[in-house]
Order: sequence, then structure tokens, then C-alpha cells
Amino acid sequence: MTAEMLARRARLMGPNVPTFYEDPVHLVRAEGVWLWDADGRRYLDCYNNVPHVGHCHPKVVEAIARQSATLNTHTRYLHDGVLDYTERLTAKFSHDLRQMIMVCTGSEANDIALRMAQAVTGKTGFIATDNTYHGNTSAVSQLSTRRPPIGGYPDHVRLVPAPDTVRPVGGKLENQPDAFAENVARAIAELDANGHGFAGFMLCPTFANEGFPALSPGFLDPTVEVIRKAGGLILCDEVQPGFGRIGAEWWGHDWLGFAPDVVTLGKPMANGHPVAAVVTRPDVMAAFREAFGYFNTFGGNPVSCAAALATLDVLEDENLIQNARDVGAYALDRLQRIDHPLKAEARGLGLFFGIEFVRPDGTPAGPFTAAVVEGMRQEGILLNRIGRHMNTLKMRPPMPFGRDHVDLAMDTLEAILARTPYDT
Ligand code: PMP
Repeated sequence: MTAEMLARRARLMGPNVPTFYEDPVHLVRAEGVWLWDADGRRYLDCYNNVPHVGHCHPKVVEAIARQSATLNTHTRYLHDGVLDYTERLTAKFSHDLRQMIMVCTGSEANDIALRMAQAVTGKTGFIATDNTYHGNTSAVSQLSTRRPPIGGYPDHVRLVPAPDTVRPVGGKLENQPDAFAENVARAIAELDANGHGFAGFMLCPTFANEGFPALSPGFLDPTVEVIRKAGGLILCDEVQPGFGRIGAEWWGHDWLGFAPDVVTLGKPMANGHPVAAVVTRPDVMAAFREAFGYFNTFGGNPVSCAAALATLDVLEDENLIQNARDVGAYALDRLQRIDHPLKAEARGLGLFFGIEFVRPDGTPAGPFTAAVVEGMRQEGILLNRIGRHMNTLKMRPPMPFGRDHVDLAMDTLEAILARTPYDT
């Protein structure tokens, strides 16, 4: 069955289409934090951040169905949905971030963020970290390091070493904030020298795709000073930490403690309905609209806004950010208690947590981590791995995850760790 489906995918979708796991899971339905495959087997979802308030939440499902049966069109007609949602959501931001454009994907949102920085500064140079992903448009993929662009990184892009708490930039943890900022200053000087000039730095405030290093609030302060002095914009990609995932605040930048110029949102925003957005200050929005106009056929449509509004309602009504804080702290405590010779660091923030594995000789234990992921999948627990060397287990479950779910995941993890050979 699986082999047949993989062959059909290759025939219909082409080669090299990504799947998870050596034995990919064929899912047919879901509810809350649970997924079921075609054979009726149940899996605990420890990975998916898109079904933010839980898979198939009845309030979101109902809101989508009701609005689909009433009206769906685009934002060149007037409709309350986009206004009501924009008002509700922008009220969650400080720093005068009170205007918004709704789009359909995080990639589109980041593409707009780049153009906002160009419109404000008149410059074209961008900085990102050297181990990240911000999306798949041609402009944004030039900042994403999973697959380098054909012909190499263009001259207007500079990549700085990503923060890391096992192998810190600058050699020591206490030097890392300044060392990171010095690399950003150097990149800005290079962009100035090559004629592009510095338009903006795109970053995720929890460096989620970099491997979610265990940083502390204030980490970015020296970098923010460098960026402000140079006159560039801070483009804050909240696709991963946003909407309370980190349990501490609604947004990663509020937790880290800096004021972005542009914030981009995506994945969890409408519980699986394709909704994303760019939030910014009125002066940045005005510069962008004057330079580029902008219309998005599907962005901000009434059904998308109904889905996003319902997701926001559930997030608040069910107190899920507090849940992320409490259950995340419980999960981190259990991770920290795990005793294993390859464990280099257990880390996490809210419902985003994991363990980095390193061999006794100091090299990253990527294949071992892969074997653990496969072992967990065989036991019905879905998670994955991330980081420069793919040696960090990544758990990022839907927000209604409870302590009982943590216990099940951690008990299983302990059993898998005990039986996975260290030299894998
Ligand atoms: N930014 C970050 C940090 C992401 O992790 C992703 C997707 N993994 C994106 C942007 C792109 O979002 P989308 O797939 O919705 O285009």
C-alpha cells in the first residue's frame, strides 16, 4: 500500500517530493492531538504546529463551513471579516505594529516583508542566518539555506552564523550576543561596500529552524543596536514562535525583548486553513503601498478570516497559551531528567522542545537522532529532528497537549533511547 502510494506520488508529482519517515504515515483523520492512519492506528502528534488549537477543532470547522455557505470573495469588495480580524489581531502587538496585510503563506508574507524594507530604505541588501528557512518564493528562498540557490547566494544576500548553545558563535556562551552582532555589522559593511546597501535583517526570534538554541531575553540587544545605527529594518519571522507557541508571550520578539519593524505570521494562524499575514507600522505600510500597491486574490477572504477569528477565539477561550507555558515547563523538566550518554542539551520554550545529541568525540549524532525519530514513529509517536546537523529532536505539538501526552511521549522516548545503539 505504502509502496504503491509512493510510486503514484512519484508518477504524478515528480521526483524528490519530501516525506517524513522511512515508512511514511498515510493519515486519514485527526482530532485534537491525535492522528489516525489508513489501518486505524492512532498516533500522538508531537510535531504539527499548524493545527494550533487541535486538529479539526469543531469551532474552527463550524466557522469555515458557515462562512463558506454564506459568501467567499476577495478584498476588493468590502467585508467585515478582514477588518474585524485585523482589529482583533493587531491589538496583540505593541511597538505601533497596527496595520496588516493578509496573505496565504508564510513565504508570501516574508516576500512582502523584504519589499517593505526595500521601500523604506531604498536599499536592496538582506541578511539572514546561515542555517535557516524563511520560505519558497524566489526572493525569500535566496535567504533560506536548506538548498543553496543555483549559481550560489546572490551578492545582495549575506548570511551570518546562526546562534547555537552547544557550539556558540564566538566560542563561549557569554560572548555569543556580541559575536553575533559583530558578524551582522560585518555583513552590513559588505553590503554597503558592494553597492546594495542594507535594507533589512530577516530572523526568527527563537531561531526555530536553526535548532531553537536556548537563548535568553536580551540576546539580540547588541544586534538591534547595530541594525538601528545602520538604518535597516528588522523583519521578524514569527511563523514558528507566534500565537503563543512559546508559552511566555504571544510573540517571540516580546519574549526576546526587541521592537521589530515588520512581523510575519503563518502556519498556526487559522488552524490549517492557509492564512498568513504581515503586520507593521503605518509608516512602513504607507511606503510599501506607495511603492508596490498590492493585491492578493485569496488573502483575507471571508472564509480565511472566519477560520482565523475562530482560531483566535479558541486560543483565548481555552487558555491555550497558559497551557503551553505549564505543559511546556513540565515537558522540559522531563527532558532534563533523561540520562543518556549522547545527550548534549535538553532545551525548549513553551510547547517547542527537544534534545540535542552529540557523540563522546564531540561530533553531532545525526544518524542516532534519525534512528530515535524512526523508533518513535514505530511506537506511534510522531516527532522529528532539526538543527545544522539534524541532531536535535524537535517536538512542537498542537497547543492542547496535556501532561498525560507528555508522559506518554517521554516514557516512549526513554524506552527508544534505551534500545537505540549509541553508534548508530
Ligand atoms: N518562515 C518560517 C520560519 C518557516 O518555518 C516557514 C515554513 N516552514 C516559512 C516561513 C514558510 O511558510 P509557508 O510554508 O507557509 O510558505
